[in-house]
Amino acid sequence: MDKDLKNKTLEELERLAAELGQKKYIAKYIFAFIHSKNVNDIQQFTPLSKEFRGRLVEEGFYVSQLKAVREDSDPDGTIKYLFQLLRPGSGQVADGNYIESVLLFDGKRRTLCVSTQAGCAMNCFFCATGRLKFRRNLTAAELVDQVSTVQKRKCEISNVVYMGMGEPLNNYDQVIRSLRILNHPEGKNFGLRHLTVSTCGIAPAIERLVDEDIHPRLAISLNAPTDSIRTKLMPINARYPLDVLLKAVRVYQAKTRLRVTFEYVLIKGVNDTVLHARMLIKRLRGIKCNVNLIEYNPHGGCKFAGSGEEAIKRFAKVLEQEGIETTIRLRMGRQIKAACGQLGADWVNGLPAKPF
Ligand code: SF4
Repeated sequence: MDKDLKNKTLEELERLAAELGQKKYIAKYIFAFIHSKNVNDIQQFTPLSKEFRGRLVEEGFYVSQLKAVREDSDPDGTIKYLFQLLRPGSGQVADGNYIESVLLFDGKRRTLCVSTQAGCAMNCFFCATGRLKFRRNLTAAELVDQVSTVQKRKCEISNVVYMGMGEPLNNYDQVIRSLRILNHPEGKNFGLRHLTVSTCGIAPAIERLVDEDIHPRLAISLNAPTDSIRTKLMPINARYPLDVLLKAVRVYQAKTRLRVTFEYVLIKGVNDTVLHARMLIKRLRGIKCNVNLIEYNPHGGCKFAGSGEEAIKRFAKVLEQEGIETTIRLRMGRQIKAACGQLGADWVNGLPAKPF
């Protein structure tokens, strides 16, 4: 049995309370102490009797906690956190894996970009994380704890985007579990409109998401209007080409009525011409969406160059003229390698060069 109480939904805690001969409402206290009050010590769950707290500890239950080992601030306000992952149930023993999370400020909005895997197997060409080998999936507790740690250290968070290291839909079960935990009113109470899952395009997992009883906002890392360009940038496209991917997106939208975001990294001479923009418009016809244009952020492992302001504005104008809501994403966090596609850019052999 998984003994990490942070990893459990409220319903699972209620079942656990019953198994341990306790009343159901006890679970609410545990859930609220962990997720609303950010308390990690079972002995501090004061509404529970002293005997029951002692029994939980005795039986090996615990509340896991990520270890934040570094915090870098960019002059533009962006903050990047480096977390050390710990061996489950081991207290503070590291398992040799690291992840990064990024806190972005935009007016009143405070968005935390969380990682879902240590490393990534998807190998997108423009992404530094793609050069790191896949190491392991994060637990729901580790996903949620990125939020808790930043809340405790820095500030309240208004939005969570699953867009950091890793492909969220390749860690499907833990991502869904973490969404349930983050969304629950007895815990952090994030509305589903404030939770976004971004995928490189795992079409069957998007279709699976349709049948869930919880529907986050969906973002698709698209980056090309044709299969030939997209497959060069994102090997996953060979498996789930654009027609297949966009069919799954349409099904998700038909069920949820949610507007979909398409992320489009603009790379000089690769996908950034007026013709590419026109082809993109055709592809997206019939989908209620907005397109986020992101200038390619350089990192050492790849020779691409960003498109530059003029080309980005030209591209945006073509989309806007067709009524597609388009946002040009600012170059946030570039100096600390926290911008899109840069996480893990300074790492050597899959690990941070100087973690402390
Ligand atoms: S863009 Fe996302 S899915 Fe692609 S390699 Fe980077 S982290 Fe993985």
